[in-house]
Amino acid sequence: MAKELFWKDMMVICPHCGSAGTVHFDREKNIALFQCDSCYAKQETVSCGVDNVEINAQCTLTGRFFRNIIPKHKVHGQKVKVKCPYCGELIAGDVVKDMNEQKIIFQNVRNAEDPYFHYPLYFQAQYRGKVIWALNREHLQYLITYLSADIRTASEALEYQFSKLPTFMKTAKNRDGIVKLLMKLQEK
Ligand SMILES: [Zn+2]
Ligand SMILES: [Zn+2]
Repeated sequence: MAKELFWKDMMVICPHCGSAGTVHFDREKNIALFQCDSCYAKQETVSCGVDNVEINAQCTLTGRFFRNIIPKHKVHGQKVKVKCPYCGELIAGDVVKDMNEQKIIFQNVRNAEDPYFHYPLYFQAQYRGKVIWALNREHLQYLITYLSADIRTASEALEYQFSKLPTFMKTAKNRDGIVKLLMKLQEK
């Protein structure tokens, strides 16, 4: 399966009725569409992707490093003030680079939500205090296959996917437990 396929349609929880809905990204029109399969709610938005920049900063109070993503139009020059997530102080951060869309998507789905409407992903569960998630049914199946497989014999596409998974999901001691949880999600 091509790796882009997963991002085409994401299953999310409909904010109106709590059932499963779909977020579809239309690359040509650069819009995202949400549609609920149960209550037929619909929503449309322009893509958040390409007009953001990534900021790297170090808090002057706590010394901690953090990254932030902000809209491009808020940035003029190479420095910009961003809020420290640890203490709330405004810190001058460095503009690292323009974000590509794929990266934005990954940042958002790490929080188990779709990147366009920020609705919670339909397939998600807690494992030892961490959220595990799948974008849609195909992705769920893919993860199960991957995490059950021997990494050394995995195909290139699988390896790509694997490299994007949070480390705790890849850890050998967690894999069995996570696969079981993913299989439970499949019954949804
Ligand atoms: Zn609905
Ligand atoms: Zn701080």
